[in-house]
Amino acid sequence: MIKIGKMIASFGTAAVLASCVNPGQKADGDFRYLIDEFADLKIMRYRIPGWDSLTLKQKEYVYHLGEAAKYGRDIIWVQNCEANLPVRKALEKIIAGYDGDRECKDFQDFLVYAKRVFFSNGIHHHYAEDKFFPGCPQEYFRTLLVSAGLEDSADYLLDVIYNPEVFPQRKSTDASSDIVAASAVNFYDNVTREEVEKFYAGMIDPDDPEPVSYGLNSKVVKGPDGVIREEVYRIGGLYGPALEKIVAELLKAQAVAENDIQKEYISTLIEYYRTGDLKLWDKYNIEWLKDTLGTVDFVNGFVEDYNDPLGRKATWEGLVNIKDHEASQRTVTISENAQWFEDNSPVDSRFKKPVVKGISAKVIDATTLAGDCYPSTPIGINLPNADWIRRDHGSKSVTIANITHAYDLAAQESPNSTLKEFAWSEEEVAAARKYLSVTDEIHTDLHECLGHGSGQLLPGTSPNALGEYSSTLEETRADLFGLYYIADPKMVELGILPDMEAYKPQYSNYIRNGLMVQFTRVELGRKNTEAHMQNRKLIAEWCYEAGLEDNVIEKKVRDGKTYFVVNDYEALRGLFGKLLAEVQRIKSEGDYAAGKALVEKYAVNIDPELHKEVKERYEALNLKPYGGFVNPEIVPVEKDGKIVDYSVRYTDDYLGQMMEYGEKYATL
Ligand code: ZN
Repeated sequence: MIKIGKMIASFGTAAVLASCVNPGQKADGDFRYLIDEFADLKIMRYRIPGWDSLTLKQKEYVYHLGEAAKYGRDIIWVQNCEANLPVRKALEKIIAGYDGDRECKDFQDFLVYAKRVFFSNGIHHHYAEDKFFPGCPQEYFRTLLVSAGLEDSADYLLDVIYNPEVFPQRKSTDASSDIVAASAVNFYDNVTREEVEKFYAGMIDPDDPEPVSYGLNSKVVKGPDGVIREEVYRIGGLYGPALEKIVAELLKAQAVAENDIQKEYISTLIEYYRTGDLKLWDKYNIEWLKDTLGTVDFVNGFVEDYNDPLGRKATWEGLVNIKDHEASQRTVTISENAQWFEDNSPVDSRFKKPVVKGISAKVIDATTLAGDCYPSTPIGINLPNADWIRRDHGSKSVTIANITHAYDLAAQESPNSTLKEFAWSEEEVAAARKYLSVTDEIHTDLHECLGHGSGQLLPGTSPNALGEYSSTLEETRADLFGLYYIADPKMVELGILPDMEAYKPQYSNYIRNGLMVQFTRVELGRKNTEAHMQNRKLIAEWCYEAGLEDNVIEKKVRDGKTYFVVNDYEALRGLFGKLLAEVQRIKSEGDYAAGKALVEKYAVNIDPELHKEVKERYEALNLKPYGGFVNPEIVPVEKDGKIVDYSVRYTDDYLGQMMEYGEKYATL
């Protein structure tokens, strides 16, 4: 799964806070996405746009898959650190029952701490992985624990919460120490890194072409007898009570699945949870890949190994989703017209593909996030992870539209935004608000479905000819393809864009971002090194320079602040086309020297004055760098003792959902 920290994305649009909260509303204009902000976090909610078009049976399927996902919640808490669950239960008890002053600063600081722990599924920062601390004094916290009847465990809990020496880091990367012993994650007990590595080295057969993911679903422990063994995650084993609940819901889901393939892989998943047999996990993944027709899909299992210092043990995660038919149809339309786009591009005909095939990406909407995907969540999925399965059976790659959409629109609701700060005029801001969210998606579609697949190498050109510049130039090429075509009347003709104004904010935003805004993410004094950021700078700088004479892009200064304003959109499109032709030539001919010159001149060096200005302006906005989500509530609707529908309610109560989940899905 691609877990993209969306803190870096979304230089989206800006607006003053959207008006009222009205959960049932259809129009985005009345739906508030941003519901809470604290510490370095913002909490959003997301919509399920296709809900009403599902059949009752499909809704029932989604519902039980969602319950199966939420019942795994405690697993990730215990996996992250053995102290997490006792801490969470104490927090829940205090929040539920405290009858002292809840308005005072100390209690408010306590609440912020609690909300941060809920967000991180534990006492460590979800991204930085170091332990964070409450703002209220330790003695105050003790009084809260005592008032909740927890005096017996108060010393232990306060040590875990306040002592910087206890569980300082979730995953340690300090190579000078034993990273297994130094990590708070709960994948190993009483073993050293050396012992673990020896343990698995003895198990793995290097000649096996289809190896299981050894150690994926177990904890390694050394008992009092000195023997090292695995405690396997399975029913009757470690995390058994949670897995039993998950399986009970999976069985209910299976009964109403959309097709036999789904029924089959749910059976295999259940068998895997019962036995812990990793061969079954592989079998499940292969069966899961075959399901391309269903509307409903899900992830439920021990999947990603990022949290293990040795990269072997997987954390539990769940994500239920439905196909976004509208967005998926858009990528189909684009792909079906792939040949037209290829034939009409500004590239020299020798470098064009005579026969081109577009890729249509599947676009999904999340309906339930769980485990390691909740509240902080990915915006794309690419699974399974086992190399040999990807090689022999492929992978599913999808983008999660409603999550991306929620990020964009929540950014608009924030009173401060990068757009408002860096856009020249109110008109620019208004146009961006109107069009940017949708044109961002379409630019991505064009980039992914057509851009990378367009063009051909001349006979004899090595695919590796551009060496260390190849990935930046490849991203440049794909972006230019998207930029050139998003302004084409064909997009309106195909019904993908509403009118010929829509592309303009995309152009303004691209230039503003490439020349300026994206450097908020680069440390002062550093160069611009990441391939996508390089490609954006390359394109924007090249066009700025090439358009200087005609004032296509104008640099303006107001109150000591720099702005870049597009004066002539059509001319800019011409420049994108010209650069596309040149970058395609470089790739097709393998012209290393020309590729190197482009990247070195336009993509790498950041003007130090401008960089400093951009950083200062961004910091003054005081934006929250990390975001996460509450789930919509999917609720059975009963009539005469029979379930006749499932409705969706959009809660705006983050803490309320955490408290509800803490009670309802407590399994360990
Ligand atoms: Zn790309």
